[in-house]
Amino acid sequence: TSSPEAALVDGLIEAIPDFPEPGIVFRDLTPVFADGPALKALATAVTAPFEGRFDSIGGLEARGFLIAGAASIVSGAGVLSVRKAGKLPRAVLSQEYTLEYGTAALEVHVDQLPKGSRVLIVDDVLATGGTALAAVNLIERAGWHVAGFGAALELDGLGGRAKLEARGVETFSLLCY
Ligand code: AMP
Repeated sequence: TSSPEAALVDGLIEAIPDFPEPGIVFRDLTPVFADGPALKALATAVTAPFEGRFDSIGGLEARGFLIAGAASIVSGAGVLSVRKAGKLPRAVLSQEYTLEYGTAALEVHVDQLPKGSRVLIVDDVLATGGTALAAVNLIERAGWHVAGFGAALELDGLGGRAKLEARGVETFSLLCY
């Protein structure tokens, strides 16, 4: 890892074998979220490459919310709540995506931001990119512009970055495993 910020975050991520199912190594960022300086360093790192180019931070439920909230304070932009299906109380746009088993959906309030707003999407881990791509589709369908995608950690070899870049989405991750 190349920076002190990356080293600080990296040192706190726990690898949990066989969670939530056999064969998956779960990268647990809760120790990063529990550490004030590490959370601030992460929030600063994911927003810095996009500075001056976003109006809102799209946090993906649930772990992306934690990064988005901190990123909001360091950057001054507010948070767009990108929620799992059925949570938002007003009129929503919904975007389905495929999981390993079955489908899920992300939702936003249709009128949450002015048309043309530039949204920086953030999440903890970029794996296959299915979740991030659903968020990209949702934000574009809502009439907003995707400023980029920022993650704490990218799992190399699962195709997430390639999928996002093929859609023209600038992608940043603080760490790459
Ligand atoms: P994907 O849609 O495959 O890119 O998966 C990304 C979403 O699943 C993110 O919201 C992550 O929080 C979560 N995720 C996927 N793989 C892992 C992993 N190995 N460890 C922790 N979270 C993961």
